[in-house]
Amino acid sequence: SAKKLGRNAFQFYAPAMNEAAQERMRIESALRNALEREEFVLHYQPQLDLKSGQIVGMEALLRWQHPELGTVAPSRFIALAEETGLIVPIGAWAMRTACAQNRAWQDAGLGPLRIAVNLSARQFGEADLVSAIAAVLADTGLAPSCLELELTESLFMNDINLAVSQLHAMKALGVQLSIDDFGTGYSSFSYLRRFPIDVLKIDRTFVNDIANDADDAAIVASIITLAHNLKLRVIAEGVETEAQLDYLRRHGCDEMQGYYFSRPLPPDQFEQMLRQGLRLAPAPALPQPRLV
Ligand code: C2E
Ligand code: MG
Ligand code: MG
Ligand code: MG
Repeated sequence: SAKKLGRNAFQFYAPAMNEAAQERMRIESALRNALEREEFVLHYQPQLDLKSGQIVGMEALLRWQHPELGTVAPSRFIALAEETGLIVPIGAWAMRTACAQNRAWQDAGLGPLRIAVNLSARQFGEADLVSAIAAVLADTGLAPSCLELELTESLFMNDINLAVSQLHAMKALGVQLSIDDFGTGYSSFSYLRRFPIDVLKIDRTFVNDIANDADDAAIVASIITLAHNLKLRVIAEGVETEAQLDYLRRHGCDEMQGYYFSRPLPPDQFEQMLRQGLRLAPAPALPQPRLV
């Protein structure tokens, strides 16, 4: 108890802080080695068309298979990779691996399929990003229209003009651009007009409660309408229940991604799913208008 610890309590606190700092340093140096040791893998989560029920694409999600810690989720290392700049080579590896994998699946007759890759702020700021993407497309032979780059609103906060020109240069390659976690960041309607975006991804915190919370339901319906009025595709992430799926279909959302259909899967399991032709039950036909 606190009373029993008395004046020694501080000594328990200080080493704990120290431990956190040490843990950070351990992870940082381990991250530095992880690429060389091929400890990173990509898992793939399907994205489905809500009308046809078919898998139309996938998002590549980074995992770190640490020899002692096991599978480490991105929430535990992306921020640190970002701070240290290690996200640049890690992100480049992820882009190349995801594009090569997607091309291989299409070559095996499992396509057409899009591949969505997350881009971090740090990567977005790199001067040679566009030529690096072009090189990956050339080397893997992936059709540029099959590559979708997921960006977050935070990328646009620093230098709007630079962001606009960077996005146009990326668009000129023929890739698709999507705004990830839409609605959670610095959402300004003006950038939606200025930026050459193709897709909005509704953040899962809004999707989570659409079946129960009238405000969240209204926000999601509004984002779908907004996207369509701007001629953008709209995809809901974090769909876990049939009630959420039904709501999204009724409001004309184009695509979904979420545990309801599948968690992110290692490549062999994802491929198996493609080969089995798994899909969502298609949307029930709308009732025919009654003739009077
Ligand atoms: P994100 O890009 O928004 O990815 C979606 C996250 O939601 C993934 O978490 C996915 O596993 C999770 N998710 C999908 N469906 C559901 C669902 O139905 N319910 C719940 N509760 N969660 C669901 P994950 O894989 O842990 O990735 C977290 C974040 O890490 C990603 O969020 C992305 O911001 C970042 N990340 C992942 N891979 C990369 C990468 O290669 N590069 C960069 N820069 N960031 C990455
Ligand atoms: Mg994403
Ligand atoms: Mg997201
Ligand atoms: Mg996110």
